[in-house]
Amino acid sequence: MAFTNVCLWTLLAFMLTWTVFYVTNRGKKATQLADAVVEEREDGATDVIIVGAGVGGSALAYALAKDGRRVHVIERDLREPERIMGEFMQPGGRLMLSKLGLEDCLEGIDAQKATGMTVYKDGKEAVASFPVDNNNFPFDPSARSFHNGRFVQRLRQKASSLPNVRLEEGTVKSLIEEKGVIKGVTYKNSAGEETTALAPLTVVCDGCYSNLRRSLNDNNAEVLSYQVGFISKNCQLEEPEKLKLIMSKPSFTMLYQISSTDVRCVFEVLPNNIPSISNGEMATFVKNTIAPQVPLKLRKIFLKGIDEGEHIKAMPTKKMTATLSEKKGVILLGDAFNMRHPAIASGMMVLLSDILILRRLLQPLSNLGNAQKISQVIKSFYDIRKPMSATVNTLGNAFSQVLVASTDEAKEAMRQGCYDYLSSGGFRTSGMMALLGGMNPRPISLIYHLCAITLSSIGHLLSPFPSPLRIWHSLRLFVGYENVGSPSQG
Ligand SMILES: Cc1cc2nc3c(=O)[nH]c(=O)nc-3n(C[C@H](O)[C@H](O)[C@H](O)COP(=O)(O)OP(=O)(O)OC[C@H]3O[C@@H](n4cnc5c(N)ncnc54)[C@H](O)[C@@H]3O)c2cc1C
Repeated sequence: MAFTNVCLWTLLAFMLTWTVFYVTNRGKKATQLADAVVEEREDGATDVIIVGAGVGGSALAYALAKDGRRVHVIERDLREPERIMGEFMQPGGRLMLSKLGLEDCLEGIDAQKATGMTVYKDGKEAVASFPVDNNNFPFDPSARSFHNGRFVQRLRQKASSLPNVRLEEGTVKSLIEEKGVIKGVTYKNSAGEETTALAPLTVVCDGCYSNLRRSLNDNNAEVLSYQVGFISKNCQLEEPEKLKLIMSKPSFTMLYQISSTDVRCVFEVLPNNIPSISNGEMATFVKNTIAPQVPLKLRKIFLKGIDEGEHIKAMPTKKMTATLSEKKGVILLGDAFNMRHPAIASGMMVLLSDILILRRLLQPLSNLGNAQKISQVIKSFYDIRKPMSATVNTLGNAFSQVLVASTDEAKEAMRQGCYDYLSSGGFRTSGMMALLGGMNPRPISLIYHLCAITLSSIGHLLSPFPSPLRIWHSLRLFVGYENVGSPSQG
C-alpha cells in the first residue's frame, strides 16, 4: 500500500513538473517569437514586397504579416477604387476569406446577402438557389455582393493595421534583376522620387493590366468580350437576395444589389461590336437594344441609371492560363497570373484560395532568402492550385460561351439546355449551383454537369425526330463540348 502511494505521488509530482515546464516553455517560445518579430521590424529590412494593394495584394499582405513576415506593399492609388469588377463573392470565396481571417472585411460596407439567382429566357423565369441541405459545405451557403472599392479599402485597412505591414503609395516601374533572380523593385513614390525597395521575395499582384508580367513570362491575355455596366441608385430589386441573370442577345445581362440602395446593371458585348460610350451611342444601345430584352418588372430599375445619366463603364474580360516564370525570387498572383471569364464571378475566390495555398507552403520557411527553396515552393503552389483553378476556369469559359446568343442551331440548343438544366430543380440545379458558388469546385463534378447539360441539349436537339441535319448539329455540339469541357485550363 505504502509502495503504491509513493508511486502515485511520484507520478503526480512528475506530471505537475512536466506541465509547469511545458507551459513556461511555451510562453517563452511565444515571447521569443514576438521579440524576434519586433526585433526584425526594428532593423527595417523587408521579407516580402507586394506590388499592388487590390484584392490579392491586400489579402496576401495580411496573411503573410500574420505569420510574422515584414511586408512592404506598394500601391499606385490608395483612394477607393471605382470599378465594375469583383462585386460578387461566391460562398466558396467567403469560406476562403474566413480561413484567412478576413471575413469581417465584408462587414460595415452595406454588403448584400445573395442566396442564388433568377434566370430569365424568352419570357420564362426560374429560380436557382445555392444548396442549403446535404451540401458538405462547411460554411454559410450564401454569397455577398458589394461595392468593390469599399471591400478593397477594408482589406487595405485590415492589412495596414498590422505593425509589420508598410502600405505605401507609389507606382512600381520595373523589377530589379540580378542573374535571373528578382531582388526587388524600382518605384516612384508619392513625392515623385524614383527609389528602390529590396526583399528576398517579390509578389507581383498588379491586376489584369499588369505591366510587370511581361518581364516575367511571355503569357498573353486574350480579350474575350467587354462588360458594360452602370449603377441604378436609390432602388431595390424584387427578391433582392437573388441575382438576376437574363439570357439576352448578344449575350447575358445581369442585375444585382450591391448595397441596400444601389443596383448594378451589367451586360456583355462582343469585341468587334462596341458602341462608343463618349458620344452617347452606348446609352442609345442600352435603351434600344438591351432594355427591351429585360423583363418588364426589372426594366424600370434597369433604365433608371441611364435616365439619371449615371456613368457607363466598360471593362474587357480576359482569359489567360497560369504560366510559371523562370525567374527566381518572384511570384505572380491574381489577375496578373491567371484570368478566366467573369460570368461566374469567381476570380476573387480562386485568388483567395491561391493565397491560402501559398501561405501554407511558405509557413515552414523561417526566412525567405533561399531562392532555391522559394522556387520549389512556387512549383508546388502551381501544382496544388491546379484542380481548383482548372475547374473554375473551365466552368467560367464554358458558361460564358453558353450564354452568348447564336443563330447556330447547335449552340442555341446548348443555351436552351443550360436554362432547362438550371431550372429543372432538384439534384441538377443544386449540383450546378454548388459548382457555380465554389461550394464544390471539383473536376469530377464539373465533368459530370457539363456532360449532363450536353446530353440533355442533344436530346432536345434530336427531338421530336433525328433528321440528318440535327444529328450533324448534335455531333458538333459534342465536339464543341470536348473543346470547352476539358478541365486543363489552370
Ligand atoms: C468585368 C469583371 C467583373 C468581375 N467580377 C467579379 C466578381 O463579381 N467576383 C469575383 O470573384 N471576381 C470578379 N472578377 C475578377 C476579379 O475582379 C479579379 O480576379 C480580382 O479583382 C483580381 O485581384 P488582383 O488583386 O489580382 O487585381 P486588382 O484587384 O485589380 O488589384 C491590382 C492593384 O494593383 C495596382 N497596381 C497596378 N499596377 C501597379 C504598379 N505598377 N504599381 C503599384 N500598384 C499597381 C492597382 O492600382 C490595383 O490596386 C471580375 C473581373 C472582371 C474583368
